[in-house]
Amino acid sequence: MPADGIAIERTIDTIEQSMTGGHGVVRFRNLRVHRDDVLGEVGRGFRYAQVRLAPARLTHCMRWLGAARRAHDIAVDYANRRKAFGKTLIEHEGVGFQLADNLIDLHMARLAIWHCAWVLDQGRDARIESSISKVAVSEALFRVADRCVQVLGGLGVTGDTLVERIFREVRAFRIYDGPSEVHRWSLARGLAARA
Ligand SMILES: Cc1cc2nc3c(=O)[nH]c(=O)nc-3n(C[C@H](O)[C@H](O)[C@H](O)COP(=O)(O)OP(=O)(O)OC[C@H]3O[C@@H](n4cnc5c(N)ncnc54)[C@H](O)[C@@H]3O)c2cc1C
Repeated sequence: MPADGIAIERTIDTIEQSMTGGHGVVRFRNLRVHRDDVLGEVGRGFRYAQVRLAPARLTHCMRWLGAARRAHDIAVDYANRRKAFGKTLIEHEGVGFQLADNLIDLHMARLAIWHCAWVLDQGRDARIESSISKVAVSEALFRVADRCVQVLGGLGVTGDTLVERIFREVRAFRIYDGPSEVHRWSLARGLAARA
């Protein structure tokens, strides 16, 4: 029989390894907390957690925007140096257009983040804007990372550049802080409520 209290049951192997200490399954069993140790009011934990959601989502957007930009820079550098079929890769339209699409996705992602940050700075909760940004940015950055892998060819799927790791880790962003579908569901629910 496990002891009463709180314990880490196991650590979980996940697609991304950038979180210090990783992730784990935490078990609570007959946990008693002294009233002096309670943060805020009992029964309001979910509501408190909701308050941090919009700014927290935006920090994910920002850190993964930086990672995707890094992958893009590596891909641009490679495409400018590598010659195939008589010219550099970037001169092949199939490659140049992918990098141009990266620029567009990175720019749109940055604008969505800036706008949501501005709404938060006005003291509003930015629920709608943060949902929109989270879906748009996570999906755009995944496209960017995917194109970078493609432009790098075989090199893209090796650990010789950071692109492989960024591609793997950015995949989780479409699930963390609410999967894209749940944000779309929430946005649609808002539309229905206002109709
Ligand atoms: C290692 C790790 C770290 C994480 N870190 C964070 C974090 O820091 N912050 C955070 O908020 N989350 C984080 N998450 C995500 C969170 O824990 C959940 O995994 C996430 O909210 C999805 O819930 P679920 O896994 O129970 O999936 P489920 O609820 O089982 O959903 C599975 C899939 O069903 C679909 N789905 C679910 N609901 C709907 C719906 N209403 N309409 C349409 N389709 C739907 C989606 O495609 C979804 O991906 C983390 C997850 C992991 C594994």
